[in-house]
Amino acid sequence: MRGRLLVVEDEPSIRELLCASLRFAGFAVSSAATGSEALEAARSGAPDLVLLDVMLPDRDGFEVVRRLRSSGVRVPVLYLTARDGADDRVTGLTIGGDGYITKPFSLEEVIARVTAVLRRTRPGESEQLTCGDLSLDVESHVVRRGARVIELSPTEFRLLHCLLRNSGRVLSKAQILDQVWSHDFDGDVGVVESYISYLRRKVDASEPRLIHTVRGIGYMIRP
Ligand code: CA
Repeated sequence: MRGRLLVVEDEPSIRELLCASLRFAGFAVSSAATGSEALEAARSGAPDLVLLDVMLPDRDGFEVVRRLRSSGVRVPVLYLTARDGADDRVTGLTIGGDGYITKPFSLEEVIARVTAVLRRTRPGESEQLTCGDLSLDVESHVVRRGARVIELSPTEFRLLHCLLRNSGRVLSKAQILDQVWSHDFDGDVGVVESYISYLRRKVDASEPRLIHTVRGIGYMIRP
C-alpha cells in the first residue's frame, strides 16, 4: 500500500475519477464531498495526505485546513483548484498546504505530486519497483534487467511503471489505457497491444519472460 489518501471534491465526476485512479495506482482512498465531511474524515481516518478542492459548497478548502491545524491535525494537503491567482497560492501555502494542483489536471500529474509529497513526509518508502531481476527506479527513471540497463521511451516507461505497480495482478487493456494514456486520449486498446509488444522486445529479451498475456482479459507482470 502506497499510503492512505483522502480526496475532498464536491464534483462527483472528478471525485470518482480521482478515487478510482488513485486506488488503481495502489493507494487506499477515502472521499468527502463537503468541508464538514472532510474535517470529520481527516480527524477520524488519519490519512497520510489530503487532496482538497478549494471551492466546496459549505466552507472553502483554506478554512478546512485552518480548522484541521487549529485542532492539531498536521496531515499534508495538496489543494485542487481551478483558481490560479497568486493571492490564493500565498494564502493556501501560508495556512499549511503543501502545494497546488490546478484544474484541469492530468492523472499522471496528480499521482506524481502525491507520490512526491508522500516521499518527503513518509521517508523510507521504496523508490524501486522490482519483479524478478527487473528493476525500475521511480526517481532516476533507470530500468535494469540484471546488470543490463534498458532504454525505454517515455510511454514504454509509463507502461512498465503501471505494470510493476500492479505486479501479480491482471490489468485489463482498458485499465492500462486509462492509466498510461491521458484520460481524454480517444484511441483504442490496440495501442496498448502495440506498446506491450515494444516493451516485451526490450524487457523480455532474456528468460524468464515477465510480461504475461492473460487471454481475454489483459496483461500481468510477475516473476
Ligand atoms: Ca468544487
